[in-house]
Amino acid sequence: MYVERLVCARCGEEHSPDEGVVFCSKMDGRLDIYYNYDAVAEVLTREELSRRPFNLWRYIELLPVERPWVDLGAGGTPLLRARRLAERLGVRNLYLKDETRNPTWSFKDRPMAVGVAKGVELGVRTAVIASSGNAAAAMAAHAAAAGIEAVTFVPHFAGMGKVAQLQLYGAKVVRLRWEEDEDPTVRMMLEMVRRRGWYPCPSFGPFNAYQFEGNKTIAYETVEQLGWRAPDWVFVPVGGGGLLAGTWKGFVEFERLGLSEGLPKIAAVQSTGCAPLVRALERGSDPFDIEPWGMPHTVATGLEDPFPWDGDAAIRAVRESGGFGVAVPDELILEAQRLLASLEGIFAEPSGAAALAGLMEALERGLVDRDELIVVQVTGSGLKDPDVVSERMGTPPVIEPSVEEVERYLGLA
Ligand SMILES: [Zn+2]
Repeated sequence: MYVERLVCARCGEEHSPDEGVVFCSKMDGRLDIYYNYDAVAEVLTREELSRRPFNLWRYIELLPVERPWVDLGAGGTPLLRARRLAERLGVRNLYLKDETRNPTWSFKDRPMAVGVAKGVELGVRTAVIASSGNAAAAMAAHAAAAGIEAVTFVPHFAGMGKVAQLQLYGAKVVRLRWEEDEDPTVRMMLEMVRRRGWYPCPSFGPFNAYQFEGNKTIAYETVEQLGWRAPDWVFVPVGGGGLLAGTWKGFVEFERLGLSEGLPKIAAVQSTGCAPLVRALERGSDPFDIEPWGMPHTVATGLEDPFPWDGDAAIRAVRESGGFGVAVPDELILEAQRLLASLEGIFAEPSGAAALAGLMEALERGLVDRDELIVVQVTGSGLKDPDVVSERMGTPPVIEPSVEEVERYLGLA
């Protein structure tokens, strides 16, 4: 393992990797993980990488585990050139990082593969998570394959596609009523960690430093798929902020290792129904003083984190990269979802289409040069939340099986 040390982003508390510490003793910030990059650079060359299978474990030297203890084939998703969508939006170089192809159909398989693998390495029996659904499904699947018990706290409005996954993966599913401002899933997870000593494995850095690192692999792959270069822009949907912060860390590491040229600008996209990070960016807030949103209301349920737990690193990433934050209304998210499917054949859930909505809004406001190379992260499958589609489009009527009826229905008669 090439990890040198873990340092709390907030209080500076430091740990060595062999302590097996999962979070800062004050639980006030994420333990940022630092590697021996000189040693990594000697092993992780373009030639070496080209010999390895295309999934996230090909970057093992930049992950905080000794071995890929559990491997469902997370990562290794396609970067698709979006020609029809580019034409529609009036941009020249548009790519979609299609994360719907992950083992549990969302990008959360990246952090959860690493988080659960670390749990195996530490010998834990029970892992617990708070999640709006996707991270819980990813954790439960990897825990099932690793033989670890999974306890999942999800809000009562979590999509039934996600809840069904949890049930079949064998997780204990606790659907918590959420009617007040504070997120009850996080509160209950922390209570059970304290009372039972369970291994916390949410996709929030302050409660598990290791899983955060899995997010970096989406950037490594993007660089490789573009021919060892960074794009000009990456549009990232933001809930807790871990994906955005991890994406940035990944680009920075690959540049430092000499594996990539340049760094992208990062656009943070949230729904106007839950936009604490975008609001903090617009206000110029201190990264450690982000005001929580209160009760979220958006069709993008995967982004309903009233407090972005990795918001400190996400704010820094947006600022350092020269990017911006943009909040988009639900109608635009649903329009983006429809365009992704009808122009490019990608069936995304609303959260998964939010980054594209952000690009559409940014183009409208003239924030992005139309000649630049743009990557949009499409983070989760539409099969997670099919009700959104039927509510919007209705259910097609039943037609009698005669040529006359069919032609009349198709408007051909
Ligand atoms: Zn600390």
